[in-house]
Amino acid sequence: MSLANGRTYLAIPGPSVMPDRVLRAMHRASPNIYAGELVEMMPPLVADLKAVARTKGHCAIYIANGHGVWEAALANILGPGDRALVLATGRFAHGWADMARRMGVEVDIVEFGRSSPVDPDQVGPAVTARDDYKAVLMVQTDTSSTAKSDVAAVRRALDAVGYEGLFCVDCIASLGCDPYEMDAWGVDVTVAASQKGLMTPPGVGFVWFNDRADAVREAMPRLSAYWDWRPRAFAKALYQYFGGTAATHHVYGLREALDMIAEEGLENVWARHETLARAVWAAFDAWSTEGPLRMNIDDPAARGFSVTGARMTPPLATDLRMWLEQNAGVTLGIGLGMAEPDDPAWHGFFRVGHMGHLNAHMVLGVLATMESGLRALGIPHGPGALDAAAVICAGSS
Ligand SMILES: *Cc1c(COP(=O)(O)O)cnc(C)c1O
Repeated sequence: MSLANGRTYLAIPGPSVMPDRVLRAMHRASPNIYAGELVEMMPPLVADLKAVARTKGHCAIYIANGHGVWEAALANILGPGDRALVLATGRFAHGWADMARRMGVEVDIVEFGRSSPVDPDQVGPAVTARDDYKAVLMVQTDTSSTAKSDVAAVRRALDAVGYEGLFCVDCIASLGCDPYEMDAWGVDVTVAASQKGLMTPPGVGFVWFNDRADAVREAMPRLSAYWDWRPRAFAKALYQYFGGTAATHHVYGLREALDMIAEEGLENVWARHETLARAVWAAFDAWSTEGPLRMNIDDPAARGFSVTGARMTPPLATDLRMWLEQNAGVTLGIGLGMAEPDDPAWHGFFRVGHMGHLNAHMVLGVLATMESGLRALGIPHGPGALDAAAVICAGSS
């Protein structure tokens, strides 16, 4: 017998759970793209996107996923022969670096491994090893390793050595989950996408940039017409925001999602994610006292509030994921970038997404079904995980 029937739950690190309010807002006839409501929705939408990234700079919207805005950001500031330094804490930083290389950019990587954040002490020496770095790229929470790095500390390290290039941060997994202060932390370019903390289906992405970054764009010898952020960020007509036909239904969905964030308050959204993440970690800590289960990141300060990565002896991680999907209607995330899919070690990693439209009953439900799965599969584990998670949720009230 399976207990999977009922509303299924996708507990992977994106796409996240789409709120019914967002889905309902999208369920409508195609709006006019030449005049009326959709056109009028854009200026406040852009203002609210800037508020979520905590910037007074500019925001360009792209009909693209995270990979699209990676390329969009790079295309405005880096060209063939330019040099960038990438601070890598997992698969996603390497993905951004590879994309830069494909665009002819010379890329150097500082490697922090697959279970550690960026060490700010290594950033100064790395960026002063040459005098021609035009941009430093990092990922706030690398969704593969689930390591979260201290963006403000990296900025301080760059300032301490007088670095004058651009500082660019991928917040795709963390925006609307972990605290992020683009202007206060001195970030020049931020990228994020709709389908994680922003609770909107995949398909729109964002590049926020300041005037320093725009001056670099101004000096580019050649620039892709489609990725150019200026017409989008300083649009006069609706088609300019999107480089063509607007992402009509996504605009309505995103509007609703940003309203939900504003109603709760961004700080409260961050605090909710922190508490729910701590509930997850408390359960994992209890399970880890016996048996094979371990979180991937030891230091709680270096764990993202939006996703938790863990390991077990292969193939137990895959067994647990399968058990939850088949018997509980819960889908956990695969271990991404920790081993190659054809390597048996791949079956030793998994992740739990806890981003976006998420409350205590969803998190406690995932944890309780995981406890059931561990028991059903006979995987040894420490006691008290659900108690520990319940205590964290109880303490928040
Ligand atoms: C999800 C993610 C990406 C890639 O986004 P896609 O929408 O899948 O292209 C890039 N960086 C980070 C940190 C992510 O979490």
